[in-house]
Amino acid sequence: MANLIINKLYGIIGSSLTHSLSPLIHNYLFKKYKLNNFYGVFEFDESNLKEVINSIRTLNISGLNITFPFKEKLIPYLDKIDTSAQRVGAVNTIKNTNGKLIGYNTDIIGVRKTIQNRFKLNIKGKSVLMIGAGGAARACLVELFRQKTNNIIIVNRNGATARKLIRSCENISNSTRIIYLNINKLNNLDKIEQLEQIDILINSTSASPTFLKRTIKRLLKNKCLKNTKIFDLNYGSRALSKNQIDFPNRYVDGLYMLTAQAAASFKIWTGIIVEPDDIYKYVNRKLRDKKYA
Ligand code: NAP
Repeated sequence: MANLIINKLYGIIGSSLTHSLSPLIHNYLFKKYKLNNFYGVFEFDESNLKEVINSIRTLNISGLNITFPFKEKLIPYLDKIDTSAQRVGAVNTIKNTNGKLIGYNTDIIGVRKTIQNRFKLNIKGKSVLMIGAGGAARACLVELFRQKTNNIIIVNRNGATARKLIRSCENISNSTRIIYLNINKLNNLDKIEQLEQIDILINSTSASPTFLKRTIKRLLKNKCLKNTKIFDLNYGSRALSKNQIDFPNRYVDGLYMLTAQAAASFKIWTGIIVEPDDIYKYVNRKLRDKKYA
């Protein structure tokens, strides 16, 4: 009989986790590094958040990833949050050290590694157009400010949310110029002063791929979007499919970001440094073999 006793327990908490790739990634890494640990899925509804956080201590769960809708809501129940999570105002990784729960945000690293490793781009002094103004947009902004991006234009359906996001960044935005553009005025990009070229378009909305396809089509009427790279945070069925992409060399979906943020969580928990490329290749292989839907 197989040995069912595991050393440490990890997992992901959220409200809808059927398609999460995190168990696949972390159980692969535990096996690869011969750690007798296990990564599970803990799906529950919002009203139980406090009890769930307390049970991390009771059950001695060593670490967790956090996803929608708890990334911000769980902060009051943690013992400490590190600078990354303070900057984003959201936690996607918890480490339990002797009952003390510390929150981190590794999405910032996911954004950084995607821009560096997939686009091979240094965004210092460059211009970025971001569609969306939710939690993931905030993680992108923190990284863009860190890299001293020159211009950021935020396009969002709800203007009040976008303006609130911009206001909340005032103390960290250093020299970056950041403005809001109404989603109905996408044709006006060329008219923005001192903006000749958009280097990256980031889609941080949770809208359908059809929305992104339609929006890109409208945006491409602007000259400043001629050679723009497109970073879509969505992956799997939520990203553009092959036949929806007109410029495959310029489009990267969110799967690499997912693997890079997972590698960063794994390092927080185990101290082991893992290259996102290794995880990325493994996950792609599994998805291709359709062994993981
Ligand atoms: P969120 O906080 O709920 O924000 C959602 C954003 O999408 C808002 O700006 C919202 O606009 C916009 N939106 C939603 N439906 C829309 C529609 N039909 N048309 C236009 N805009 C729409 O979500 P989030 O946490 O930022 O996550 C955003 C996406 O990023 C999700 O799909 C998530 O899976 C993905 N993500 C990926 C990774 C990764 O590792 N690859 C990491 C984090 C997040 P309004 O403000 O106007 O409502």
